[in-house]
Amino acid sequence: MSEHPQRNEPPQQTDSEPASSGASSTYRFHFAARSDVGSVREQNEDSGYATSHALAVADGLGGHAGGEVASAIAVGAVATAALVSHASAVAESLHEAVQRANEVIDATESHDAHLSGMGTTLTAVAIAGSALVICHIGDSRGYLFRDNVLIPLTVDHTYVQSLIDAGRLTAEQAQHHPQRSVVLRALGGGPVTADVSVRDIREGDRILLCSDGLSGVVPDALLTRVLGGYDDPTAAVQALVELALLAGAPDNVTVVLGDVVSSPAPSRDGAIVIGAAGELRNQQAMQSEDIRSGLASASGQKTSGAAPKRVETNLRTHLTRWRLPLMFTAGLLVMLTLVRIWIFSQWWVGVDSQHVVVGRGIPQPVLGVNMGKVVSRTSILVSRLPEYERMLLNDSISARSQSDADNIASRLACRTVPVSSECAEPR
Ligand code: MG
Repeated sequence: MSEHPQRNEPPQQTDSEPASSGASSTYRFHFAARSDVGSVREQNEDSGYATSHALAVADGLGGHAGGEVASAIAVGAVATAALVSHASAVAESLHEAVQRANEVIDATESHDAHLSGMGTTLTAVAIAGSALVICHIGDSRGYLFRDNVLIPLTVDHTYVQSLIDAGRLTAEQAQHHPQRSVVLRALGGGPVTADVSVRDIREGDRILLCSDGLSGVVPDALLTRVLGGYDDPTAAVQALVELALLAGAPDNVTVVLGDVVSSPAPSRDGAIVIGAAGELRNQQAMQSEDIRSGLASASGQKTSGAAPKRVETNLRTHLTRWRLPLMFTAGLLVMLTLVRIWIFSQWWVGVDSQHVVVGRGIPQPVLGVNMGKVVSRTSILVSRLPEYERMLLNDSISARSQSDADNIASRLACRTVPVSSECAEPR
């Protein structure tokens, strides 16, 4: 069974000391991060950044050309900001980083028409003494995990959140709303204002930043269990990304985790740059030498020369352009035909007679009509799987193809205790 295409970075972790330039932090992060293209997208438009005093996640907006460049600019602006100071100064630096990123995004898309319309979310945090400064715009998420409780640090700037705030939608209904991905505030396309706040932190706190590729498919209850179940940040990041992949990973998945620990005297700094921001072509495309150099330095790459023209065709951009006209011109019969085709193109991994099975169609009967069937049955006993995987299987796990479903089943086989003979991955 094949691995996901373009599966890129394994979890990265560093245990370095905070910056030496006058650091006054009482605490620092013990951090880890991973970004994955997911199971459906062709490119990774997410970016992530982590160092001993700051974390950031940015999600290039779907359908926007050059989203990967925009997200790289956003985390690059955080990486090059002066964030080692008292809370009000760090808050001001993050505010300036947002404005700087917005200016560079505008300049970059003006330079290259292929990048027109690009945008990105940005969620960043920085330690200032015993405080945490939070800067947020868009629908990426920030959480504080303290005493086994998951506390949101951010509020989505989305259409569905505005309906929730107005009392017209419940959080449960928002999870299935057709416009749940519509972001109302983002970098790119005009003046922006980020939410900036400050709160106290203490040793033992765990800070999670993630793109909606995680928070959109893995419920908070599971996030809480994983964060409480893995002391090591690398293991926790790995488990969170694997859960998103098991849930179908329809979007890019980026997870940045920082455990708050007491800080000894600073000596040197280390950083992780993941996703789009770690790719040289995205660094070269941005119209800012300082952000480009800062990212290249943080990710250990070398850059030189002017930004190259992007010649690739963004297939998804073209599809998005045509999607609305097609919807308006399609008639009822065409829609019904498409629905029928769609139903029987669906693959899933579920449970039948206590065994993991691969099926197609819709796993549950619709109005009493059976619209799906089991295609293959594995020897994997559900009772031998960890609780997280059993919870995911309760609702069936979506797959984009039979081979993808087989791949998910294989991953599950590797998670049984003892490991099933159907596990195809070397362990
Ligand atoms: Mg996303």
